[in-house]
Amino acid sequence: MEHPPPVSPALDLLMEAWSWRELDAARCRTALEAARTAHLAAGTFGQPESGDTFRLTSAALQVVWGYLCFREVRLAEALECAEEALGLLVGHPESCWSSRVLNVKSCAQLELGELELATLTLREQLRVSRANGDAETEGATLHDLGVMHTQRDPAHAEGYLDAAWAVFEKTGHPVGRSYVSWSLGELRERQGRTAEATVLYRRALTLSRACGHLFLEVLVLSRLGELELQHGDPLAGEQWLREALTRQSADPSRPLWITVPPLVRLLIFTGRMQEARTVLEAQLAGAMAAGMVPPQVQIYELLSEVLDALGEPGVALEHLREHNRLFREQNAQEQAQKVRGLEVLHRTELAQQEAWALRQRNEELRSALEELERLHRQLEQISVTDELTGVKNRHHLMTRGVGLLEAQFRSAQSEPQPHSAHVAVAILDIDHFKAVNDTYGHDGGDRVLRSFAQFLKSGLREGDELSRFGGEEFVILFPDTPLDEAYRLLDGLRLGLRSFSFEGLPPGFRVAFTAGIVNCPNADLMDALRRADQLLYRGKRSGRDAVTREKLDGWPVLGSLQF
Ligand code: GH3
Ligand code: MG
Ligand code: MG
Repeated sequence: MEHPPPVSPALDLLMEAWSWRELDAARCRTALEAARTAHLAAGTFGQPESGDTFRLTSAALQVVWGYLCFREVRLAEALECAEEALGLLVGHPESCWSSRVLNVKSCAQLELGELELATLTLREQLRVSRANGDAETEGATLHDLGVMHTQRDPAHAEGYLDAAWAVFEKTGHPVGRSYVSWSLGELRERQGRTAEATVLYRRALTLSRACGHLFLEVLVLSRLGELELQHGDPLAGEQWLREALTRQSADPSRPLWITVPPLVRLLIFTGRMQEARTVLEAQLAGAMAAGMVPPQVQIYELLSEVLDALGEPGVALEHLREHNRLFREQNAQEQAQKVRGLEVLHRTELAQQEAWALRQRNEELRSALEELERLHRQLEQISVTDELTGVKNRHHLMTRGVGLLEAQFRSAQSEPQPHSAHVAVAILDIDHFKAVNDTYGHDGGDRVLRSFAQFLKSGLREGDELSRFGGEEFVILFPDTPLDEAYRLLDGLRLGLRSFSFEGLPPGFRVAFTAGIVNCPNADLMDALRRADQLLYRGKRSGRDAVTREKLDGWPVLGSLQF
C-alpha cells in the first residue's frame, strides 16, 4: 500500500528553507527558525505529529541546519548534523531528505579534501536521489561529481556535467543550470579553450541574474574580468571587475574576496595608486563591519603595498603586521575547523564500518545456520530412507510408523465411536528371491528390489506408508483403512505384478510376493507385525504368490484362493 508523504507545518517551512539555501541565506535561516518553533510546539503541546512525521521533521531540521553550517565552513557541525539526520531517516528511504542529507555530507567531505569518502557518498547520493525521483539533488550530485573530476579526469568531468545539465534542463532549475554553465566554463578554461569558456561564463551570468543568484553572478563577473585581463583587453577586464564589485556590495553577508585582488592589481599596474587605495579602504570597512576575516587578510596585504608606493611606509608596515596577525589567526582557525571536521568524519566512518562488519558477520552466521539446517534436514532424510530403493527404511517404520499409529488412536478415542479407527498393517516378502540373485547376480537382484519398490509405491494411495523392512521384505501401513479395503488393494497389487515388466531384466521376467495383512486395533505395531508375519509364512507354506488376511473370526483367508 502506498502511503501519502507525511505533512506538517514545520516540514513545509523546511522545504521553503531548503529552497532558499543558495539564493538567500537570511531567508533560509528565518524559515528554519520558524520550522524549529513549529516543530517544538507540535512535539510538546496540542496535536503531536505522528511519530513518523516527527522523526522526519527532526531529520529535515538537521539537514537544513547542517547545510548552513557547511556554508559557514563549520564542517564538524555540518557532519554531525548529517549523521544525526541519517539515523533519523532510516525509516524514510523514499523521502527527499534522504538524498539531501547525503548532499550535505558530501559537500563537507569535499571541503575537507576527503575525495575518496566524498566519492562514495556522492555515488550513494546519486542512487538515492534517482530512486526517489529527486531531480534537484540528482543534478547537484552529477554537478559535484563533474567538479571533482575537472582536474584529474576532464573527459569524465564533461560527461557528469553534461548529464547534470540535461537533468536541470528537464526540470528547468535555473540555479542548477547556472552552476553547471559555470563549471563547464571552468573545465573549458582549464583545457585552454578560452572562447568556449567565455560563452559558457556568459550563459552562467544570464542564468544567475535571471534567478537572482548574486553569489554566482559576482563569481562569474570576476572570472570574466580576469579572463579579459589575461588575454589583453584591460579595459574590458576592468569593466567586468568593477561591475562585480558593485554587485557584490548588494549582499555584504557573503565573503567574496576574489574580485578585489585582480582589480587592485590592475590599478597598481596602471599606476592608479590613489584609486586602488580608495577601493581597498572601502572594502576593508565592509569586511570589518561584516566581521569577515578572509577578505581582511587580503586587503591588508594589498593596502600595505599600495601605501608603501604612496610614500606612507609607517602605515604600510602596520597594515602588513595586521595582515600577518590575521593570516595566522585565520590559518589556526581553519586548521582547527579541519581537524574537528576530520575527527567527526573518521569517528562516524569507523562506526559505520563497525556496523557494516557486524552486519556482515550476522549475515555469515545466518547463512552458516541455514547450511546447518539444510544438512540436518538432509541427514534426517538419509536416516529414514532406504539407500537401495529410496523408500522409507525400517528405522523410519519403527519411529514414525509407531507415532502415526499413536496419533491415529488418540484422535479416534476422542471421537464418539472409538472403533472408527482402522489401520491395516501388511508385511510382504518376494518369492524365491534367492533364485533371482542366483540367476541375475546381486546387481540384477538389486534392480528387481528397486523396481519392485517403485511398483508398490505407484500402486499405493497417498498416506499409505511403504518401508523396506529388510532384505526382500516390505511393510505397508494403511492408515484409516478397514482391513477388507486394504486387503483388496494389496491383492490387486499382487495380481498387477504379474504383468509388470522389470527394467534391465529380460522381457518375460516375473516375480511374485506373498503377504500377510492384519488389522491393528491399537498402537502396538510389533504385535501387528508379528501376526502379519505369521500369516505371511502361512502363505509361503501354501504355495506362495498370495495375500493372507486375518478373518474376523480369527481364520486366515488366502488371496490366491479367491481367484
Ligand atoms: P522365499 O520365497 O521363501 O522367501 O524364498 P527366498 O529365496 O526369497 O528367501 P530367502 O530368505 O532364502 O532368500 C532371500 C535372499 O534375498 C537372500 C539374500 O541374499 C537376498 N537379499 C537380501 N537382501 C538383498 C539385497 O539387498 N540385494 C540383493 N540382491 N539380494 C538381497
Ligand atoms: Mg525373506
Ligand atoms: Mg523371499
